[in-house]
Amino acid sequence: MDQTEIPFTRVRGGFRRMLETELGTEQLCASCQQLWPVDPEFYVVTATRLSYECRACISERKAVRAGPR
Ligand SMILES: [Zn+2]
Repeated sequence: MDQTEIPFTRVRGGFRRMLETELGTEQLCASCQQLWPVDPEFYVVTATRLSYECRACISERKAVRAGPR
């Protein structure tokens, strides 16, 4: 599927590219450009915030920042 066709949806904290599938709502990760379910297992979901990157990308970025030089 062409990811440019995924519409922007207004959510708490801004706009996210989301798609309704038969499995539920999925969000396009801003880093890896992959669709993952909007679920605490895949994104950081709180009452006020929904992360724009999936957990894998967030932890990868943290690892790079905290890594040895
Ligand atoms: Zn990602």
